[in-house]
Amino acid sequence: MMLAGCTPWPEDLAAYYRSRHVWQGVALGDLPAEWAREFGDRTALVWRDERLSFRDLAHRVDRAAAGFARHGIEPGDRVVLQLPNTPDFVVVAFAMFKAGVKAVFSLASHRSNEVGHLASVSGAVGYVGPNHDMALSLGIEHVLSPGDLDGEPVAHPAADPSDVAFFLLSGGTTALPKLIPRTHDDYAYQTRIVADLCRVSADDVYLAALPVEFNFTWGCPGVVGTLHRGGTVVLADDPGADGCFELIARERVTVTSLVPTVAHLWLEAREYLDDDLSSLRLVQIGGARLQPELAARIEPELGCRLQQVFGMAEGLLSMSRLDDPADRVIATQGRPVSPFDEIRIADGELLARGPYTLRGYYNAAEHNATAFTEDGFYRTGDLASVTPDGDLVIEGRIKDVVIRGGDKIAAGEVEGHLLTHPDVDRAAVVPVPDEFLGERIYAFLVSRRVRPSLTDLKRALHERGLADFKLPDRIEFVDAFPLTPLGKVDKKTLAAAAADPLAARGWKEQA
Ligand code: AMP
Repeated sequence: MMLAGCTPWPEDLAAYYRSRHVWQGVALGDLPAEWAREFGDRTALVWRDERLSFRDLAHRVDRAAAGFARHGIEPGDRVVLQLPNTPDFVVVAFAMFKAGVKAVFSLASHRSNEVGHLASVSGAVGYVGPNHDMALSLGIEHVLSPGDLDGEPVAHPAADPSDVAFFLLSGGTTALPKLIPRTHDDYAYQTRIVADLCRVSADDVYLAALPVEFNFTWGCPGVVGTLHRGGTVVLADDPGADGCFELIARERVTVTSLVPTVAHLWLEAREYLDDDLSSLRLVQIGGARLQPELAARIEPELGCRLQQVFGMAEGLLSMSRLDDPADRVIATQGRPVSPFDEIRIADGELLARGPYTLRGYYNAAEHNATAFTEDGFYRTGDLASVTPDGDLVIEGRIKDVVIRGGDKIAAGEVEGHLLTHPDVDRAAVVPVPDEFLGERIYAFLVSRRVRPSLTDLKRALHERGLADFKLPDRIEFVDAFPLTPLGKVDKKTLAAAAADPLAARGWKEQA
């Protein structure tokens, strides 16, 4: 049974996935103990000077899981988890899986605006993270640090593998992130199949360079897939080249995953940092479009295989394969990872359905009515085509988002905040191409009064508790917005204008 507010897969399909051993009835919370039995004293996690064996990890998970009950947090309760890349994140997440507490994976960069939204949509009773004042101001009942979660290990009720284990966040097309329920079965399957595809073994050392709460870092194969094979996970404090190159050399890292912006930075840094990167065998790049020119530089300059990853926290993952020819790896986003993935392209838009692709966002009946087709396909909002070789090429998106570095920012959310400023009458946010970040946030504004400066606006939005990565990078005041024939703000024209400062701006709105 799935938690109320979630949409289960149809029973016949669920039975089919079970009969084909796609869903194997694995409870994620049981994994650390299994790993401890299998891999014992091998190193599971490395962070700064700390090293945890699989046995240490299982022990800490058991103690932390006991801590929830001690604080009155029960199975089925939702708790916002907001921790940086540390062993604590891994320990607390698995402790929550084990205790049946539903983790909501907040981004470390989120502030009161976002955490407040996540807490209210999920009905969270708890928060685990460093920002206690913020969590208390949001009225969250149990505000805890990882260190507060400790107790003599206790028995926990067995988890239902078809139930939600945790919630990931959507990249977001509307105001704020939606909650994506991920079940034990579906996530165990995803990590297993991707670990196979990436040939992960106990000899691998995975570097979590990006935030660990991203689906990409957590389970593609990431942290969970690597541990599952007995490999070691090294946690980086940030994705900067200096720190990461040192870690790669020191820990003999073999696999990592990056967004294109970070990959670009690493290539630039390679010109002056000569750390030994020879242990690297695979760099996965995804989360945003990877320019073919950049893709072509990865293998020669980093000395390892490139894998393109197109994916989404909602589920569907498409990847190039390790032995695909170089031209296909450079120019395409590969193929869906599972033979049970079903994809369809309708009017250019990619639709997806399968054993690890959600059937509905949490507590979002109204949005779900349009986000899915009648037969359960998720409308990805991405424009895609398929090459004669069968590879997917992502051509753009119909979603109203800016992809800045690896972060997805919903235009509507930033617009909503801009409109609360007394001197902003209208706001339209579009992406503007940027060599460094891929895209930046460009806000067109209409003001009938004093025109606020970018600094004023940023300060006002920051004071509203908006995460800093969502603040506009540039603003431009115009007299009116261009409109589509249907009378909507014509974002295509605005985006083209943002990219070309010399293009004419004389738009007139029709009544
Ligand atoms: P998220 O769930 O935050 O990972 O965001 C998923 C979205 O990121 C997808 O729907 C795409 O719009 C975009 N995306 C992810 N990977 C790629 C890629 N390799 N190329 C182009 N867009 C991508």
